[in-house]
Amino acid sequence: MNIKRLALFVLIILLGYCALDFTSADILVREIILNTGLGQGFLYRPLPEWVGPAVDWAYAMAQEADPIEQSKLDSRILLLHHAPWKETMAILDAGTGLIVIDTWASPVSAKKASAIIRKIFNKPVTYVINTHHHWDHTFGNQVFTGAEIIGHKHCAEDMKTSYKSADDRKHELDKALKGTDYQSIQSYIQEVQHSIRQNFVLTPPTKLVNEKEILILGNLKVILYHAPGLHTRSNLIIYIPEIGLLFTRREFQHDSLPVFEVGIELPALIKNLEEILASGKPIKYIIPGHGDPIANPDLKVPLAYLQALQKAVTTAKQARKTPAEAEHDPAFSAFPQITSNPGIHHSNISFIWKK
Ligand SMILES: [Zn+2]
Repeated sequence: MNIKRLALFVLIILLGYCALDFTSADILVREIILNTGLGQGFLYRPLPEWVGPAVDWAYAMAQEADPIEQSKLDSRILLLHHAPWKETMAILDAGTGLIVIDTWASPVSAKKASAIIRKIFNKPVTYVINTHHHWDHTFGNQVFTGAEIIGHKHCAEDMKTSYKSADDRKHELDKALKGTDYQSIQSYIQEVQHSIRQNFVLTPPTKLVNEKEILILGNLKVILYHAPGLHTRSNLIIYIPEIGLLFTRREFQHDSLPVFEVGIELPALIKNLEEILASGKPIKYIIPGHGDPIANPDLKVPLAYLQALQKAVTTAKQARKTPAEAEHDPAFSAFPQITSNPGIHHSNISFIWKK
């Protein structure tokens, strides 16, 4: 293993400790147990004082290496990830053309992706789908000329308002810059800022989705569900039954908790997940916007948690109980993952209660 590969490996391990989301831009330091091999473990807490410089060192070394990571899930599905945020770009072979889901943070990197795509598939990109409006998922749209760009109507609206002028774009990226203390992330955002000053054309979706849309794109049936409050008001859940892919937040797996943000429509979300499960087709992978795919996810667990949330809040309100009583409803004892994420559960209850 050469030094660049080692640095990249260290970076990936360190970023694994840090839940990076540029909207909150918090770095969560997690605790892990390391087994000493002597029959006892010890608690190991990476300190921000040394995680920071270590991430910066690894990032600087990894800069020398290719920031693009490729993985093929099968002959029809290619995933490209861009360091250091590991933004996902998914490429699906739909027969005569390709579907690209999300386009990274700048035309410069999207162009590099486009060259890789051409080399691997040698087919035109006929559709681009944006999972939501944020710049790190949409700023490469302009590279895919000739493709129809699909997104929720709020995705188009929010791109047009948040990123209208060069000053607006600078303002939004400056917010992300201020949100992190890590020099490596700052360098990355500055790099994006620099590249979009040179050559950027705001390219929002033109085929707009409302609540639900079933599209036949090439030889694939693609089902799009509006999922407001899962991160932004413009988020889509994308389900492709034939190849078993679900594009959504990484928390939709058995040992995690879905995280709500403002604008959540819980009954609609429950109905959509029930519909996806009722289709009877196995979900082979959840593809999150950042990070690795999650193989064989068990969607029944997060769905049961969402149903329990809805019921606990409705019952508590009817009985004139408090949000705290709803939060400790006995039904939640079936979800041990709440114990490790009490803050998320508390905040989810608050969002549903206010609805
Ligand atoms: Zn986002």
